[in-house]
Amino acid sequence: MMRVILIGPPGAGKGTQAASIKAKYPIAHISTGDILRENVKGGTELGITAKTFMEAGKLVPDDLIVGMMRSRLAEPDAKEGFLLDGFPRTTAQANALGRLLDEMSLSLDAVVLLEIADDEVVKRLTSRRVCSSCGAIYNVIAHPPKIEGVCDVCGGKVIQRDDDKESVIRNRLGVYHEQTSPLVEYYVKKNLLHRIDATGSQNAVLTFLESTKDKGCI
Ligand code: AMP
Repeated sequence: MMRVILIGPPGAGKGTQAASIKAKYPIAHISTGDILRENVKGGTELGITAKTFMEAGKLVPDDLIVGMMRSRLAEPDAKEGFLLDGFPRTTAQANALGRLLDEMSLSLDAVVLLEIADDEVVKRLTSRRVCSSCGAIYNVIAHPPKIEGVCDVCGGKVIQRDDDKESVIRNRLGVYHEQTSPLVEYYVKKNLLHRIDATGSQNAVLTFLESTKDKGCI
């Protein structure tokens, strides 16, 4: 059983690291970005409201995100543990998560910070592509799909996310430094924070979690 938060700037590889953990442990991978994108695609009320914030690289308001996470954490798969990817992103969200977990009598095991320089993020994200059907992640330089524009996994269309354009990325990094980076201190104080170099292996977080698990720390 693991309850872990992944924190890091956009492009740090939270989704990629989460995928390698999910492949090994039966825990719910909960990505607020993915849930929001599904809502945008499905044209739900939440999706319609969230879209304008997302396209501008801004954060969706806390109350909407917290409501969404309240229902997500109550789903059966989260009982086996969870990996939060992209949430919390503000101190208000971290406080709300703390209250939600208290209500459920649950506690966090670790908060993993993926560290990476801004310029590296810009380089990574402008070359990132995603499958519009199944969400598989590609990179035009490091990991292109076998056939250009076509997903290796499901044959879907491989596209660039609207918010992976350079101007929007710079905006998202600004938002991260301003609103999300205070969470680092927040979780240091709670003795939960672990720093990992995001430019290393795609399995770095998995390897770290396994070693702490072996030591009986989580
Ligand atoms: P991500 O895929 O995690 O980079 O998220 C994409 C976009 O979704 C962000 O730029 C925000 O607009 C929105 N978003 C995702 N998670 C959150 C969150 N926890 N709080 C507010 N907005 C979020």
